[in-house]
Parts: sequence; C-alpha cells; structure tokens
Amino acid sequence: MRDAERGMRNNLGVEGRPPHEPVASRIPHPASRALPLILCYHKVERRRELGVTRIAPRRFARQIERLARAGWRTLSLAQMEACAQGERPVAERELLITFDDAYRGLRDHAFPVLEAHGFTGICFVITDYAGKLNRWDVAYGGRRFAHLAWRDMRRWQARGIEFASHTVTHPRLTWQSEHRVTVELERSRAELSRALDVPVTAISYPFGACTDREADIAVRTGYAIGFSLASRWSGNLLLLPRLPVYMWSPPTPGVGMLAPLERIGAVGANRCAVGTTLWQRFRESTSRQPGTT
Ligand SMILES: [Zn+2]
Repeated sequence: MRDAERGMRNNLGVEGRPPHEPVASRIPHPASRALPLILCYHKVERRRELGVTRIAPRRFARQIERLARAGWRTLSLAQMEACAQGERPVAERELLITFDDAYRGLRDHAFPVLEAHGFTGICFVITDYAGKLNRWDVAYGGRRFAHLAWRDMRRWQARGIEFASHTVTHPRLTWQSEHRVTVELERSRAELSRALDVPVTAISYPFGACTDREADIAVRTGYAIGFSLASRWSGNLLLLPRLPVYMWSPPTPGVGMLAPLERIGAVGANRCAVGTTLWQRFRESTSRQPGTT
C-alpha cells in the first residue's frame, strides 16, 4: 500500500470533506507521508453530562488496556513530528494519544492509566482557564467541569505527559479577526512556555477549525506542528488530522473493522460542534455592557 494511502486509512478523511472550512490540507503538498493513528480525547469524567465527548473512566481504562495488550505503543510529540516530516518511519501499532481542553478529570482518571501501561500523551491547554471552571463551554444540563491547574500540569509533565496550546480562550479561530487569532496563538504559547519552562511548538485548533490563514499565523507565531480534527492528511505539519474519541467509540478506537464507520461518525459529530461556537457568540453578545461594541 502506498504511504499516502496508509496514512489516510490510519486517520480521517478518506470519506467526505473535512467538517470545517476550506483548509490548507487541500492544497497539493509535495509529499503525503504516512501518519500514525492520532486519537483525540476530551473529558474523562465520572460525572455525566449531555455532551458526546465525555468518556467514563472505566471505559477509558478499558480502551487503553486493550491497546496496550494488543501491542500498541505511544509516540512523543517529537517522534510524531519526525514521522510527519518523513524523517522517521511509522512502525506498526504506534499511536499518538492527545487530549483537548485539559480537564482536571485527566489528572485523576486518564494520566495514571496511561502511566500504568507505559503510555504517554499530549494535552492541549486553554491557558486562561488553567485551574478554573469551563465557562468557555456550553454547560449541557448546567454542569461545570474544572480544568487542570498549572501545578497539576507540572507534576504530570515530570511523569511524561506533554502540554501544548489550545489557545487562550477557545474561540473558533476561523471566525475571528487576524489580530485576535495572532493574540490567541502568541499569548497561549508564551504563557505555557513560562509556566512549564519548556518550548511550546504544538497547537490544537479549537473545534479542529483551521484554514490556510490560521496555519500561516501558527507558523508566524512560532508553532511547528498543528492538530485539527476529522480532516484529510496531505502532508502539511500544521494540519495533522486526528480521530476524535466519542462516547460511542469501540473498545479499541480507530483500530479494527469498525474504524471506517467511526471516521464517518466523527466527521458528523464534529460538524455539530458549530452549535457550541454559536452559543459562545450569543453569550459574548449578551454579556457586553450596553453602549459598548
Ligand atoms: Zn477544545
């Protein structure tokens, strides 16, 4: 099988168009290299909510255990980058595990499970919400969830979890002015580097929404690697596609006979995330003081 084909099968985008706006990945790229499987988790929490991205801790533990038993190993961000650049071959049963939004539940229910199996992961942080409740998000059923505090991140960083940017406030970047996108990318990178004392070169775009413009701004603001969701891989390091894991995902997400169905479901579910952004806009507009713009 050709490398590019294998890469696309491992990830998303064989079927259908990307779930968001036109992306840079559509522009022909000199080389479409193979990519390892990249999973994207959100909440791993006991408390229920009406959203679809929450995974119960026991379910998460089972998924990781099954992957580990089947011989899967996790990659670091640097290894992932080397694979995407074609500098490192992709071995069988290698994957990258990522977490968007940096919820506190990860500290209690996800990171210890990864550690127990010798796995690592990359966690993308909304820097203004470190240690706070998720006021940026829709509270389905009125429930609020806490985010990891900086001290949690430092503790887990020392134990192999890597942290990178998920912007400052989690806006849909494709709907923002160039200035706001630049500020979101620059500030979050600087804040993470300062708080965790490491260079930060990776970003996960909120809602996976990214066009050429955001990818260009990411490069200008110091990022080397960018992650979207449920999109097509064409060799652009700033637009790496990931498979989101939802509450209905099979016991070994992204692997096996159900993987094609999972990808189709992921594209549809990610499109529904537009509702979250519209809600954010509504909240922003109603919270403005009278007389201001
Ligand atoms: Zn997010």
